[in-house]
Amino acid sequence: NSIPKIVILGAGYAGILTAQNLQKKLKNNEADVTLVNRHDYHYFTTELHMPAAGTQPDTKTYEKISNLIDEFKIDLVKSNVTAIKPEERQVVLEDGTLSYDYLVIALGGDPETFGIPGMKEHAFSIRSINSVRAIREHIETQFKEFKKDGDETRLNFVVGGAGFTGIEFVGELANRLPELAKQYGVDPSKVGLFNVEAAPSALPGFDPELVTYAMDTLTKKGVTFRIGVPVKACDENGVTVGEGERIEAKTVVWTGGIRGNHLIEDAGFEAMRGRVKVDEFLKAPGHENVFIIGDGSLMIGPEGRPYPPTAQIAMQQGERVAKNLIATIRGQQTEKFAFSNKGTVASLGKGEAVAVVAGKKIKGWPAAQLKKVVDARYLFIIGGMGLVLKKGRFL
Ligand code: FAD
Repeated sequence: NSIPKIVILGAGYAGILTAQNLQKKLKNNEADVTLVNRHDYHYFTTELHMPAAGTQPDTKTYEKISNLIDEFKIDLVKSNVTAIKPEERQVVLEDGTLSYDYLVIALGGDPETFGIPGMKEHAFSIRSINSVRAIREHIETQFKEFKKDGDETRLNFVVGGAGFTGIEFVGELANRLPELAKQYGVDPSKVGLFNVEAAPSALPGFDPELVTYAMDTLTKKGVTFRIGVPVKACDENGVTVGEGERIEAKTVVWTGGIRGNHLIEDAGFEAMRGRVKVDEFLKAPGHENVFIIGDGSLMIGPEGRPYPPTAQIAMQQGERVAKNLIATIRGQQTEKFAFSNKGTVASLGKGEAVAVVAGKKIKGWPAAQLKKVVDARYLFIIGGMGLVLKKGRFL
C-alpha cells in the first residue's frame, strides 16, 4: 500500500512528544507510525538524580509507554535498535528489521568521558532506571561494607562534572549521605562528598550570582568543590585530579558530558561528539527523510553557541517534527524549528534550587517549588492530570 511509514526510534522526551503529536493530529490511514524503545516504559531523565541518590523511589520516575500512547494508532515495538541503515531506509533491531519512509532518531545520548583513562570502566553514569538503581545500591553497600572492614575510602563519594546534572545529583547526595550515616551508625564527619569540575566555574554559562548561591548552599551542606580542576584518571580506588592529586573513593559518578547515541555515528551520519548538526527543519544533512532530535542533535543558537542538550529542547523538537511530518504527508508547507527558552531551574537538594525564568533570578525555596511545577507540567503534557497525581511530587 502507499501509506507512508514513519518510524520513531526512542521513547524519551523527544520520541514521546513526536509520537503523541502524530497520534493527536494524524487522520486514520494517513500514515503508519511505529515507536521503538528498548524498554516498555518511558523514564523522566530530568528526575533521575533523585532515585540515583536514593531520595525518591525509582518507581516515581517512569511510566509504561502503553499508558502514554494509543496503541490503536501507534505500533509500539519494545526492542533494542542495533543499527540504522539510511541508504536502505531500514532500521535493524535485535530481533528483526523495520523499513521506513520517514525516520525520527530520538535515541538520546551516551556519556562523554573525553577519553579520561578508566572513566568508562570505573565510573557510574546517570542515564536510565537500571543505572540509577545500581548507583543507589552501590552507595548503600559502601556504608554496609565500611561497618565490616573499616575502609574509610568507602565513605568518599566523587561526582565528576558540576554542570546541571552533577550539581543536582550532588544536592541530593548532600541530603542522603547524612541519612545513611545515621542509619548505619557511621560518624558523619567521616563522609566526604567531592564535586570536581574542569571548567573555571560550576554550572558553566549560568548566571554568576546564582552559581555563587548554589555553591555556597552546597558547601554548607558539606560538599567539597574542586572547580577548574580536571579529572585526569579514574580507577577502582578513586580519581586522580589536577596535578596528580588523589581522591580515594569507591564511588565515582561521571556527569561531565554527553554525546549523541553511538548508533548515529555508526550509521555514517556526520557528527560532532556523536551529535548531528541538523538543519532548521531538524533533518540530517543530505537526508530529506531523516530527522534527528533531542540529545543526538546539534543546533547553534543565536549567540553562535550550540544549545545545550535538554529535555526542554527535545520536547519542542518532537512537537515540531510531528507537525512537519504531517504537513509533508499532506503536501503542505513545513515550518522551521524555533527554540523558545522557557528558563532553567537546577535543584540543590531538598527545598533549595536556583532558576532563571524570563530573565528573573529565583533562588531558595521558591525556586525549589518552581522545579516541582516544571516536573508536574511535563507529566501533565504527556499524561494529563492522572499522571500528575500518580507520579508528581507534592511535599
Ligand atoms: P532520552 O530522554 O534519553 O530518551 C532516549 C530514549 O531512547 C530512551 O527511552 C532510551 O531507552 C531509548 N534508547 C536508547 N538507545 C536505544 C536503543 N539502542 N534501542 C532502543 N531504544 C533506545 N533537561 C532539562 O531540560 N531540564 C532539567 O532539569 C534536566 N535535568 C536533568 C537531570 C539529570 C539527572 C539528567 C541526567 C539530565 C537532565 N536533563 C534536563 C537533560 C535531559 O534529561 C535530556 O536532555 C533529555 O532526556 C533528552 O531527551 P531525548 O529524548 O533526546 O533522550
